[in-house]
Amino acid sequence: MNDLAAAASRLPPVVLRERGQREVFCGLTGIVWLHRKLQDAFFLVVGSRTCAHLIQSAAGVMIFAEPRFATAILTDRDLAGLADAGDELERHCVRLLERRPNISTLFLVGSCPSEVIKLDLGKAAERLNAKLLPNVRVVAYSGSGIETTFTQGEDNALRAMVPLMPASTEKQLLVVGCVADIVEDQLRRAFEALGVGPVHFFPARRATDLPAVGPGTQLLLAQPFNGETVRALVARGATLLEAPYPFGAEGTTAWLQAAADAWEIPASHFQAVTQPLAERARTAMAHARTRLAGKRVFFMPDSQLEIPLARFLHRELGMSLLEVGTPYLDRQMVSAELELMPPDVTLSEGQHVERQLERVRASRPDLTVCGLGLANPLEAEGLATKWSIELVFTPIHGYDQAGDLAGIFARPLERRERLGL
Ligand code: SF4
Repeated sequence: MNDLAAAASRLPPVVLRERGQREVFCGLTGIVWLHRKLQDAFFLVVGSRTCAHLIQSAAGVMIFAEPRFATAILTDRDLAGLADAGDELERHCVRLLERRPNISTLFLVGSCPSEVIKLDLGKAAERLNAKLLPNVRVVAYSGSGIETTFTQGEDNALRAMVPLMPASTEKQLLVVGCVADIVEDQLRRAFEALGVGPVHFFPARRATDLPAVGPGTQLLLAQPFNGETVRALVARGATLLEAPYPFGAEGTTAWLQAAADAWEIPASHFQAVTQPLAERARTAMAHARTRLAGKRVFFMPDSQLEIPLARFLHRELGMSLLEVGTPYLDRQMVSAELELMPPDVTLSEGQHVERQLERVRASRPDLTVCGLGLANPLEAEGLATKWSIELVFTPIHGYDQAGDLAGIFARPLERRERLGL
């Protein structure tokens, strides 16, 4: 039995369930990376000034560039039900699209305020589509922070596009989850070298380039937070290939292996293609490994990437896992990852921030991976931290990024050492 198979035969770890105050961004944050990927799309948040502040400070505003996101601010009259917010929204959308003829998909993004006043953005999208199709398609989804974490914004956006995807029975691989263009190109080259194809990515670089889906579609997941999208694709006939996520040399090899098995690629060819790439990735990680091996890491629940990243840090960089928190545990999305976790790991689902901080203070980890709001106070208490949101904004997938990914975790420790802390 090899190392991977031996780990996979163990029982899944015990989970601590927590319900209390949460410290996470809302789903609007997803616009930051989605608008970079979907180059023909515009994201119009229908929300309050708070929503506008969040999205502007998260995405940055360049005064000379025309950003592809904005907020239609609901006024007191809208919130009090004194004005027909639907009519006004429609007028704004038409005006916006006249000014921006290069936009072919307009996302209407719901927020806490639009949900509280029950503004039906789905209906607004229907009415606009009746006017604007085929030139522009309008798609509605929710980025509200009520009961959701920030990466669910991507899941909601992709889920809203699934009904629009054409049907196909062709055997094809569909990689689900937003990845940077450079990562998409690298992964495409790996599939090509293996002989796996045709391969499509969802989302593609243009929102209008919707891949087809159907009984021949095999899904390979690039991000662990798109559970609703995956279930919608499965309902349209697709099959989910279970695999760990492509983080690090081991994770990427196992991820590619799942596709290679579905395409019945001979083991010798798989080895010949992946071995040199994995070797290069291991060499790129070696420096960070010397820094991180034996160190203890604590993950606060934030991005939903915690379980795959903890597996990577433990198995490839030798770190011990004190606690791995995740906003919600979607077992279907992480089943292959759970099998690779050490049996004694503490997993926690949900958040009770005070209790979790007490556990951080009691265990004094060498590194705490957490949201922005918790990082500074913990640093002030002498603890090294890493912002989990950086792991969503930075290309971290595949062999070519393995060294950079390891470096992201090693840098806070190096910095503290240089400062003599
Ligand atoms: S959607 Fe909700 S949580 Fe997000 S910025 Fe707006 S009000 Fe705040």
